[in-house]
Amino acid sequence: MLGKALRLLCAVAWMTAAAGPTHAHDKIRVVASFSILADLARNVAGDAADVSALVGPDSDAHAYAPSPADAKRLAEATLVLVNGLGFEGWIERLVSASGTKAMVTVASTGVTPRQMQDDGRSRADPHAWQSVANAKIYVSNIRDALVRADPEAKAIYAANAAAYTARLDVLEAEVKAAVAAIPPARRSIITTHDAFGYFAAAYGIAFIAPQGVSTEQEVSARALAQIIRQIKAEKIPAVFLENITDPRLMKRIAEETGAKIGGKLYSDALSAANGPAPTYLDLMRHNARELRSALLD
Ligand code: ZN
Repeated sequence: MLGKALRLLCAVAWMTAAAGPTHAHDKIRVVASFSILADLARNVAGDAADVSALVGPDSDAHAYAPSPADAKRLAEATLVLVNGLGFEGWIERLVSASGTKAMVTVASTGVTPRQMQDDGRSRADPHAWQSVANAKIYVSNIRDALVRADPEAKAIYAANAAAYTARLDVLEAEVKAAVAAIPPARRSIITTHDAFGYFAAAYGIAFIAPQGVSTEQEVSARALAQIIRQIKAEKIPAVFLENITDPRLMKRIAEETGAKIGGKLYSDALSAANGPAPTYLDLMRHNARELRSALLD
């Protein structure tokens, strides 16, 4: 009996050793369009797939200019993950220019899109990940895409997605509790571009943004004057900087209105590894903490 068990162990060890290096080469390559999506994908993929991002930390995916190296990475990918909802205006051309055979998955599929006014036109708000409930939809789409691309590792992707979704449940409760601690009359802030509509709808903080839903337009003098009047009239307590936008506009608004600068929010990109928001979980916690501490006093 013991002999048989030993022989089996040896056989398993031999098979593992033989399969090890080959298996590492077999890892599928997943390319996500931006850093937040890549982090969600890494949590679902674990060690079973290589995940990278085209638009890295602290960078603006609205106004990204892809490079030939990006096309090469898409050509070598098995799976490409995009946000959709018009976030990455450059991705379709890049995918077709790359000639990639990769499956392209829109991670926001199934989210209820918010409509918003942008330059007088109605369009979908792409920043759906700013609600944790939506991030859970992203995670289930990412899991399904990974399973389609790499069915052998199905059990790994399913287990990782379930474990990470449980962490998102905890995060969601924390964000709700942080906002609940702020008196309702003070739940109003200014951000540079309109990236927090889903957060506002899910958790109940009003965000007002001079730059609109994308970072690509300039703010007109008229829009700026209107915002300044609004801050004064509504006694909005704080303006926030964002990691992907120019801080000068918010600093000027703060000077002209007396609103305080409440810190930096992470809207469309993670921070670098040594910053306060290197993962999606850190990003949402950081934003909730900044809002709470700026609006409480
Ligand atoms: Zn944005």
